[in-house]
Amino acid sequence: MNVRILRSQCCGNAQCVEIAPAVFALDSHQKAVVLDSEAAPADLLIEAAEACPCMAIVVENDEGESVVSCGAASEEARRGHPSMRRELFVLPERLAVCRMPEAGPPPPWVFYQDTRIFSVTRAPGEISVVCAEDDVPPSMTRVEPGWRAIGLRGPIPFSETGVLASVIQPLASAGVPVFALSTFDTDYVLVREADLARAIQTLSADFEIVEGPPR
Ligand code: SF4
Repeated sequence: MNVRILRSQCCGNAQCVEIAPAVFALDSHQKAVVLDSEAAPADLLIEAAEACPCMAIVVENDEGESVVSCGAASEEARRGHPSMRRELFVLPERLAVCRMPEAGPPPPWVFYQDTRIFSVTRAPGEISVVCAEDDVPPSMTRVEPGWRAIGLRGPIPFSETGVLASVIQPLASAGVPVFALSTFDTDYVLVREADLARAIQTLSADFEIVEGPPR
């Protein structure tokens, strides 16, 4: 058996390493590499390929025929018909990401947003707010403005794996920084407005770009 990694698709979660540590390892870029494709039986290689959430492992027989390709073959199949593609939409608002101290409740203004999307997250040491750029009061000092939200049309079942990674990974390969947000139904990836056209061009290879949901 021959095993290949589609490194541009690998999102480095090490699932393959857990299943077959004699075959797979992560390199210094947190991408999988093949140590020795003969160090595990074929069924373990296939199990690793099928478990890969990023469809990045190709297993071929000695004739070079794909035994299981969670990469190229399934990508081809998924891309083959537009109705099988997931859909992305772009929200029109320019967004800001704000940071404030964890102490005390979030200020009231964060809850009076008139936008399609806002988010408040308390985590150890900080409160982060994503909101419309225009709604950020001048008193806020830690603000990263100029973001746009790309949403996956949901709902996406909690049991489905690799969906957010399938958006983030090609953007990472294209050098587009992202800020990810998840909701109950779906996921959003924020990109800088200056990167939006490049992000959409990159993602349109794998996704249908559709009109956003009605307000
Ligand atoms: S399971 Fe797939 S995505 Fe995860 S490290 Fe291995 S090849 Fe990469």
